[in-house]
Amino acid sequence: MNLNLLVVAGDGIGPEVTAEAVAVLNQVAASGGHTITITEKRIGGIAIDTDGTPLPQDTLDAALASDAVLLGAVGGNKWNALSPDTRPEAGLLKIRAALGGFANLRPAFAIKELAVNSPLRTEVTEGADILFVRELLGGLYFGQPREWDKAKGEAWNTMRYTKDEIVRVARIAFQLAQKRSKKLTSVDKANVLEVSQLWRATVTEVAAEFPDVTLEHQLVDSMAMLLMTSPRNYDVVLTENLFGDILSDESAVITGSLGMLPSATIGGKVNLYEPIHGSAPDIAGKKLANPLGAIMTGALVLRHSAGLEKEAVLIETAVRKVLEAGYRTADLARGNTTDFKVLNTTEMGDKVRETIASLLS
Ligand code: NAD
Repeated sequence: MNLNLLVVAGDGIGPEVTAEAVAVLNQVAASGGHTITITEKRIGGIAIDTDGTPLPQDTLDAALASDAVLLGAVGGNKWNALSPDTRPEAGLLKIRAALGGFANLRPAFAIKELAVNSPLRTEVTEGADILFVRELLGGLYFGQPREWDKAKGEAWNTMRYTKDEIVRVARIAFQLAQKRSKKLTSVDKANVLEVSQLWRATVTEVAAEFPDVTLEHQLVDSMAMLLMTSPRNYDVVLTENLFGDILSDESAVITGSLGMLPSATIGGKVNLYEPIHGSAPDIAGKKLANPLGAIMTGALVLRHSAGLEKEAVLIETAVRKVLEAGYRTADLARGNTTDFKVLNTTEMGDKVRETIASLLS
């Protein structure tokens, strides 16, 4: 098997963590007699500096011609003064829209060895394993009209969904729930918003196609609390775009660090893979970034775009073993310091590759 992978590493820690993920992907693919052909292009702030736009045409063309796209992160203080439609983040929204993926899968899981990193008590998080299915192409981030009328001192955005947009993402969430614990929680604000009333009615309709899955609805405000007080009660959580962005970041505290979490966006022309964290300007260039979220994102590339489940599990197993063996990056290094050894970004990548090599032998 050969996979044509476009790598858009982006800004800040993006290139640092992506380099480790790519090295792991190459190692694991080679071990199974597969190849990954990597093309690298610019996106985000770096592309603004070199090409005057956060998403150059040649990056977009390469993305559409690839089998999968691996993205690091975009953004940084240098570009903060730009308007929303010219900032690095605009490049991310544009590539997501062009690739067409509408279902963003964001796992949030407790890892026994990292329990001390979570501000939540271990007995609350232990065993928690949630898969967020976040609608990614609609809602407030894309809805029209949107404007900041500076003269009037007024700005507005629009949360808008069509029934078809809700049906297609709900079906993916139900299908994933069928493969997990057959329980789906749909999140909305149906007590206030018409768009949420459509969301709730549509998800309820789709549920009839999946009689083996139990559906429950939660309002987003109470869900924000319930995810922290009883995360084990949830398995697949289906949300619209904005609510999913917030709730999945909130749920990163279950794992203990934003740097641990991968994501995949599926359902469109080309799947897009990215760790959920941003460009972390506060630690960029210091080799402090945790590459494990990016490395586990690589596992999702193999699982969802290459059909290499065994190889994906190999990467996930190696990450777990590295943590079990007491290795941490600085963001995970809490608790009794004699219990672990702190590694920098590249050392952590090396440790994962060393562990993969020993698992293979
Ligand atoms: P962030 O995720 O970059 O950082 C939040 C905190 O988590 C920081 O303290 C950071 O040091 C830490 N952190 C994040 N990833 C880490 C990792 N891998 N290892 C160790 N620590 C890590 O979020 P932010 O600070 O709100 O945003 C910074 C920039 O990133 C902004 O410009 C924002 O727009 C952008 N952003 C981009 C994406 C993306 O590209 N997908 C997502 C979120 C934010």
